[in-house]
Amino acid sequence: MIDQFSSPPEHRAGAILTIDLAAIRANYRLLCERLGGVACGGVVKANAYGLGVYKVAPALYEEGCRDFFVAHIEEAITLRGILPQGVEIHVLNGLFSGVEGDLRKYSLLPVLNTLEQVDKWKTFCGDNPLPCDLHVDTGMLRLGLEPAELDEIQHNPSLLSGMDIRNVISHLASAEDLDTEQSARQLDAFHKVRRIIPNGKASFANSSGIFLGSDYHFDLARPGVALYGVSPNRENLLTMNPVCTLRARIVQVRDASAGETVGYGATHAVFTPTRVATLPVGYADGYLRSLSSAGFGFIGEFKVPVIGRVSMDLITIDVTQVPDALCQPGNWVDLIGPRNSVDDIATAGATIGYEILTSLGNRYHRVYTSQ
Ligand SMILES: *Cc1c(COP(=O)(O)O)cnc(C)c1O
Repeated sequence: MIDQFSSPPEHRAGAILTIDLAAIRANYRLLCERLGGVACGGVVKANAYGLGVYKVAPALYEEGCRDFFVAHIEEAITLRGILPQGVEIHVLNGLFSGVEGDLRKYSLLPVLNTLEQVDKWKTFCGDNPLPCDLHVDTGMLRLGLEPAELDEIQHNPSLLSGMDIRNVISHLASAEDLDTEQSARQLDAFHKVRRIIPNGKASFANSSGIFLGSDYHFDLARPGVALYGVSPNRENLLTMNPVCTLRARIVQVRDASAGETVGYGATHAVFTPTRVATLPVGYADGYLRSLSSAGFGFIGEFKVPVIGRVSMDLITIDVTQVPDALCQPGNWVDLIGPRNSVDDIATAGATIGYEILTSLGNRYHRVYTSQ
């Protein structure tokens, strides 16, 4: 298998990112179990949420995944080169003029999002309908046919005649929130969609949607983030297997005395003698600037907070409580690990696990494990 992801060799890298393909496979199986026989696709857009589509997609394939969703046609073409024949590759961002030939050449399914796109595809296909999906908006107001377009179809079903619609899909806006009624409203709306457009299969649930119960499962689920170990909702924090670890090596250790400040903008003041370790990871690597004085790592069992601003290439951590032998230049600090999950770091940085994963930089040495 070609690996187009260039990562620096271990001895030259400032940090090591490990990605556990066995955990991704276990997460896929877990979601399949939850789905109780309903087909489970895999969303691998944005380079499989930053984890490397060249490795992740084949791992999902081996677990039986046959429906893969990406955002861009370019991602779909890449994926076509990675996976064996016989898989369906769905392009969520839809169809724009000029790509019809590419969609046909690579046997991709455009997810048509407007009646204009429907028209374009019908015109392109002529008398030989090619497969496609149809996305109908049920209340997210982002992608998909609008209510007025659904009405048009209801009054004039021939708008869709002669098409090979494989899946009718819709997307939940707040599925991770078990308290909102928005999901139930969207579910009602989707049932209405299916009464008007019964073509093909129905696909509704993302990762969090799977955990809303079997009413939300329909024929084909589209999980992304849960495959990659991020919690699909607060109540299921321990459900998914963690996939990533990130370890950075200490490059310098300093002693600061009371009155001194650390980093850009002097945002962190030292009041008592403090030992500061510098790590070669920064916002250019996806260690978000919002983790300034908020992120944390671990050296063994010792929690080490990020102090001061996150720089482009560096962060500084407080290692005052750590035994000297463990915080010398060259020693390792866990920035993502069993004690600080992707979800924990996301919370500390006032964001979501999706953003932490898709920001993971390409200056880390990447290790894929499958045990
Ligand atoms: C990204 C995306 C998904 C996957 O969502 P997760 O929350 O990562 O499971 C599913 N469907 C659509 C339309 C998407 O854009």
